[in-house]
Amino acid sequence: MRNLIPVISLEGGRELTDERRGEGVYDAVPAVMRRLDSDKRMFGVSVTLTSRNYDDVIRNDYLKLLQALGCRAAFLIEYVPCGAEDKALCLTQAQKTHLRQIEKQLYRQCDMLVVSLPGNEDPYGGCLASGRGFLHISSTGALAPCPFAPWSDVSAKETPLKVALQSHLLKKIREGHETLRESRGGCALKENAAWVAALQKD
Ligand code: SF4
Repeated sequence: MRNLIPVISLEGGRELTDERRGEGVYDAVPAVMRRLDSDKRMFGVSVTLTSRNYDDVIRNDYLKLLQALGCRAAFLIEYVPCGAEDKALCLTQAQKTHLRQIEKQLYRQCDMLVVSLPGNEDPYGGCLASGRGFLHISSTGALAPCPFAPWSDVSAKETPLKVALQSHLLKKIREGHETLRESRGGCALKENAAWVAALQKD
């Protein structure tokens, strides 16, 4: 299936990857990558950037290691908390500032696509959800504005994508994009959760 690109989830090094993904996962990944690479399959990696793994991941040799294993894209997803209790995992302000300062230089040194978000959304006018850049289909078929946005009012199992894109919620979020221009380095939609909840009741 030439239009599918496998994206493998890692959490940085062995300890944090195995803690979140299960014991032995980190050590199993290089063999999978080598197989994909030898089959000439394009693949990428997704890493949730947290205050705990920031130093491990942002060090250039981590991205170089992925590149050496054949990885062609790295998605560095800044951790977005679901509740107040998870906030300790958010990047610290110093880490966010450091990332913004070094990202261009870091990415230039890598021979692969490196995207960090939500921080990288500012040049594109802010939040990319609801079809501006992202859409997410969950394992149950629920069509959500973005992989990080848990709201949905339409199922891709029951509705053709072209029609589903015009759902009340997705349309209202696109129309209200002015509210989502400023992310301050976090997720603009989550910061406006009350606004999104009100849209669902409109
Ligand atoms: S919902 Fe959040 S993470 Fe998703 S595109 Fe919008 S700002 Fe970015």
